[in-house]
Amino acid sequence: MEMWIRFWPFLAVFSIMVTWEFISPRRILAQSRQERWPTNLGLTLLNVVLVWALVGAVAYMAATFAAKQQIGLLHWLSAPLWFAVPVTILVLDFALYIQHRLFHAFPLMWRVHQVHHADLGFDATTGLRFHPIEVFLSLSYKAVVIIALGAPAWAAVAFEIILNATSVFNHSNVSLPERLDRRLRWFLVTPDMHRIHHSTRAVETNANFGFSIPWWDRLCGTYRAEPALGQLGLEIGLSYYRDSFHLGQLLLLPFQARIPLEKTWKEISPLQLSEMLVEEAPPYVLDVREPDEFTGELGHIEGAHLIPVSDLDKRMNELAPCRSQTVVLV
Ligand SMILES: [Zn+2]
Repeated sequence: MEMWIRFWPFLAVFSIMVTWEFISPRRILAQSRQERWPTNLGLTLLNVVLVWALVGAVAYMAATFAAKQQIGLLHWLSAPLWFAVPVTILVLDFALYIQHRLFHAFPLMWRVHQVHHADLGFDATTGLRFHPIEVFLSLSYKAVVIIALGAPAWAAVAFEIILNATSVFNHSNVSLPERLDRRLRWFLVTPDMHRIHHSTRAVETNANFGFSIPWWDRLCGTYRAEPALGQLGLEIGLSYYRDSFHLGQLLLLPFQARIPLEKTWKEISPLQLSEMLVEEAPPYVLDVREPDEFTGELGHIEGAHLIPVSDLDKRMNELAPCRSQTVVLV
């Protein structure tokens, strides 16, 4: 029954947000709905069927188990409902903030979570696009928190409904007046706030982890108000995956995932670079030195792309060809 109780509010919010996206979109989608929706909605359907068939109403079952056994903090404190319900919502939301940061921090978990981030678009369906492994890990983690907390069953179910609704809302491609967005951001994660988390720039991906309540980001120092290139210029997705995936490829992505660029760099000597340059497929050499710095062993490098560091922000578009190549930074 819990699944049905969750389904109708979800369907209502999803329909409202999709209609809103059609009427008043925030950005032009980099990829059409026809290209992305079969994958995102296919993955959502698969998750719903798997959860339904394999585990059922986990949040509800965990909470009723804790109540029967009289375990968990709120049961031990004999907390009244008016206290237990808001505490449950707050604690679960903070627990999910921590979970989201863990999915970004540990390479194995990131392999799974990048399925969500590899979407080249950002709309209501992105908020549903999670690998089944992430869904099951998250369900187990929430069940442990619910039992440890001794959360009331219907508060746990209410949290799931809120989470579904806010995830669809804060991933949606809707245009909100800027002043309203700023005010909403004090108590709700807005689409403009969460879109920054889907930027290809690592410093922006590592910000705005919250799903419903924005306070955790502000308290833990991960809040970012605006992206460097602005809401309309921000590039969505992952810099190392610029192709779209169909459902089968997405399911396999965690097992063949490329490791983020920032985790694969290594230092090479000028001699190693000269050897690499005469190979059949030379690397993309990005020379960020100013012209008056061409001294020492390297001097000017033949064929290097010279974009001095002072010009980098203006000439980012020239870096597009290096996406598919090994990059040597000088
Ligand atoms: Zn994330």
